Amino acid sequence: MATLSEITNAVDAMKTTRTANAANVANAANWKANPVYRLCPRCFRAVPAHSSEYYCCNDGEKLLEGCPRCHTPIHSPFARFCTLCGLAFAPLERMRVKKGG
Ligand SMILES: [Zn+2]
Ligand SMILES: [Zn+2]
Repeated sequence: MATLSEITNAVDAMKTTRTANAANVANAANWKANPVYRLCPRCFRAVPAHSSEYYCCNDGEKLLEGCPRCHTPIHSPFARFCTLCGLAFAPLERMRVKKGG
């Protein structure tokens, strides 16, 4: 059973979310024309760059804002390598690529 203060807090949270959503809709419109993602270098979870996720919810890795080497933005949620310089986004993948020559 929720206490009155818990309910009040929940209502406040809902109000805050609604305001944030209005801003996100505007961002989402721009983003749709030129999508940019943050990408987890460990599990490749992709989130839109305008989301408020900065760390992966699966493993806590800091999400990449773009290529670690040339800073090119990530335009595909399925990207594994930088499209400009070819760098593998995952440190493990980078080691594997190097080893293979
Ligand atoms: Zn992850
Ligand atoms: Zn790059």
